[in-house]
Amino acid sequence: MSEKKTSKNGGGESLEEYRGKRKFGDTGEPYGSNIKASEKPIFVVQKHDSRKLHYDFRLEYNGVLKSWAVPKGPSANPKVKRLAIPTEDHPIEYGSFEGVIPEGQYGAGTVMVWDTGFYKNLTERDGKIIPLGDGIEKGHISVWLEGKKLKGGYALTRFRTGKNESWLLVKMNDEFARTESDDNILENETKSALSGRSMDEIAGEG
Ligand code: MN
Repeated sequence: MSEKKTSKNGGGESLEEYRGKRKFGDTGEPYGSNIKASEKPIFVVQKHDSRKLHYDFRLEYNGVLKSWAVPKGPSANPKVKRLAIPTEDHPIEYGSFEGVIPEGQYGAGTVMVWDTGFYKNLTERDGKIIPLGDGIEKGHISVWLEGKKLKGGYALTRFRTGKNESWLLVKMNDEFARTESDDNILENETKSALSGRSMDEIAGEG
């Protein structure tokens, strides 16, 4: 694949780190282009069977997908706090990437689009909605998800800055909140929201 220059117009504000980690001739992951943002911003949760199974939580903002790795995956129970480690911005096209990242490549393993849909930014400051990016900078955002599996409000809050920056992903209290005994979305919902395939089926097809 030919070398492309990274510019400010070359796919959002910050895909350099994403591109620097990957060999695009070897992995099927998208390079990322300057595609137009959708009218309603998308979210995606990818199940990623890498060295350690985790879920990647991504929100479209400013031409890229802002991303967090959530080791235990999202919960629908507001009492459960899930660790979320920020990762590099991903291209918008990554939201429909499903397949196998080959051995030896960054993040090698199977990737499933576990859930996807639109989201609404609910992040407030002093009673007013502020841009998602401002909320991320300040360390707190909230969004309303309209996914196939995840629905309703979710909040992300930073609790540690610096080298080991860490956030918590928590379900907000609303009509889509579930109780402890009923919070089994990860166990019950194991197929791709995009293709209906299982992790094994995706892994098998490569
Ligand atoms: Mn991942």
